[in-house]
Formats: sequence, C-alpha cells, structure tokens
Amino acid sequence: MDSFIYEALPSRVIFGSGTRARLAEEIDRLGLRRVLVLSTPPQRADAERLAASLGTRAAAVFSEAAMHTPVDVTERAMAHVAALKVDGTVAVGGGSTTGLGKAIALRSDLPQLVMPTTYAGSEMTPILGETHDGRKTTQRSAKVLPEVVIYDVELTLTLPPALSATSGVNAIAHAVEALYSPDRNPIVSLMADDGIASLGRALPKIMQDPADRSARSDALYGAWLCGCCLGAVGMALHHKLCHTLGGTFDLPHAETHTVVLPHAMAYNAVAAPEAMSRIARALGTQDAATGVYDLAGRLGAKRALRDLGMPEYGIERAADLASQSPYPNPRPIARAAIRDLIARAWAGMPPQG
Ligand code: NAD
Repeated sequence: MDSFIYEALPSRVIFGSGTRARLAEEIDRLGLRRVLVLSTPPQRADAERLAASLGTRAAAVFSEAAMHTPVDVTERAMAHVAALKVDGTVAVGGGSTTGLGKAIALRSDLPQLVMPTTYAGSEMTPILGETHDGRKTTQRSAKVLPEVVIYDVELTLTLPPALSATSGVNAIAHAVEALYSPDRNPIVSLMADDGIASLGRALPKIMQDPADRSARSDALYGAWLCGCCLGAVGMALHHKLCHTLGGTFDLPHAETHTVVLPHAMAYNAVAAPEAMSRIARALGTQDAATGVYDLAGRLGAKRALRDLGMPEYGIERAADLASQSPYPNPRPIARAAIRDLIARAWAGMPPQG
C-alpha cells in the first residue's frame, strides 16, 4: 500500500425516497428559525411547495439562481438575507442553485441545507465557482461546504432524460479524475469505483424509463459518491479543459463534460493504467475511454463540441489556454497532443490516446 493522506469533510447526509419530509426536522436540528429557500426560475414551484411545508421556518423563496453563480444574483439574494433576517438557506436544485447557497455562505457564514435534483455533486464539495463580468473564478473554502444534504430520489424523477445523461457523465468525470489524482487515497478510490459502476448501470435504464425509481436511486447514490470524490481530491486535465472550454465559448456545463471526458481519459491512459483498468471494470468494458464514449452514445448524448456551439477556430485558442499554466496531471501536458485531443472532441471522433 502506498502512503496517503485522507481527510473526511464534515457533512450530514440523508439519503432515500420521500426524505424531503425530514427537512423541517433538520432545520430545527440546526437551530434555524427563518430560512431562505433557493431555486432556479423553472424550479420555483418546487421551492414554493417546499417552503409551504416548512410553515414559519421559511422566510421567503428566492428563485433567481443561474448557471456559474453570477455575482449580481448573489448580491440580490444577500439583500433578501439582510432584509428578512434570514438565518440559513435551503437550496433545492442542481449545481446552479447549490452554488448560490454556497456564495451566500461565503459572505455570511449562514448554514446551508441542500436538496440536490441533478447529479452535479456540488453539494459535497467545499468548492465555489463564481462569475463576475463574464469571468469565472473558483475557490476552495470550508465556509461553503453545506452542513446538511438531503438526497430525495423523488426530486430527481422530473430531471429530463437528456439532462440526466449529461449530468450523470459529469458526475462520472469527478470519479475518473479522482482515480488518477496525485492526492488519491484508498477510500476515495473505493467511492470512485462504486460511483462509476452505479451511474454506468443506472443511466441507460433511466433513458428507457425516466420514472424507474430503482435506477434513479442508483444514479443519485452514484452522484453522491462522485461528488465526494470531487470534494476530496484534486482534479486534472479533464476539469481544466471543461473549465477553459465552458468559460471561453460559453458552452453548457454537463454537456461539455460529456463530450470531453473520453478524450481526456484517452490522453491520460498511458500514464494511469491502474485507474483505467478500475474504470473499465466498473463500466464492464475492455477500454475505459471507449467505454465512456460508447456510454454517451447509448445515452443519446451529443459527442461533438461543434454540436454544442464551439466554433472551429476555437480549437487553437483552447489548446493555448489549456497548455499555458501548469497543473497536476498524470501525463505531462504537450500542446500538440492537447490540440489533437480538442480537435477530435470538436469533431465528435472516437477517443485516441
Ligand atoms: P443546473 O443546476 O444549472 O440545472 C440545469 C437546469 O435543470 C436548470 O434549469 C434547473 O432548474 C433544471 N433542473 C435541475 N434539476 C431538475 C429536476 N430534477 N427536474 C427538472 N428540472 C431540473 O445544472 P447542473 O449541471 O446541476 O449544475 C451546473 C452548475 O453547477 C455549473 O455552474 C457548475 O459550474 C456547477 N458545479 C459546481 C460544482 C462545485 O463543486 N462547485 C460541482 C459541479 C457543478
């Protein structure tokens, strides 16, 4: 056994079906009396139903959460926090809504309860990405790690199949990079194995029947494990590429992860053989990168960056940006090979190491 450091992040996790009925009890457990319920505009009705179930514990609903946590939205939410004398937040939604709760916690230290409705995994991480004037910055802070996470499988039944597919592959990406992270450790690697296997099994079933509760439960369980991976160890080339591509060309988050992942894996395969064989075993395939590419195909997800709106001239710019500042990665970053990787992902070709 190689030497390692393992650090557990403090958070209370409640998992099951119908667990939203325990929200009031959890709010009381934290000693909170007036929470602000957060959502995106399309999920406002869910947030209002939840707020109604909380009685006087809910001060109001704020439903302006948006992708990449724009600072102006956070400032509007902070005005509500102050005016209503809020003492905690409840985020019901995907990574965008969780991000707003985290941004409020960063500024106020208010306790957060999160009820995830996608597979993004942000609820398990001390990471916050914020956008100011179109520029995204990311930071790690213990202040933003949610105190309580309530996973209710029923809240995920409405996640549209296409979004379930890409959100699920986005989660798998966290586990993949955890397996070859320089600070990987045996516990997080076990979570990664099981997270990939659970999502790999569940996602095709969800495509067949989005109301399949058992598959939804497996997928949410997998997403939890993958979120733990993202929160626990450092990510590498894949996350760097997605961050760069998403920020530079305004590409959708989960969809970009889905296109790029097999290519980033193929790039790293020679330098991370043990990780690749664990991933292949978890997916029940011969080759890990091809396994993820085929999975995305079976799920009907887009597999080309050009289909997400990235212009062809962007390939060179993305290659420059992704090979400029150094970051840890199992295989050294070489611009020509990175350019090739991006060009293949742009065209939707199968991955090639
Ligand atoms: P999202 O939260 O933006 O949700 C996408 C859309 O789906 C929204 O309109 C939302 O309202 C809707 N939706 C969500 N759940 C639904 C459901 N069950 N039924 C119907 N509609 C539903 O998307 P996301 O992929 O979950 O999150 C992406 C954001 O999260 C990005 O900004 C990304 O940077 C961030 N993120 C952060 C971390 C972190 O650790 N900081 C981790 C992962 C993602």
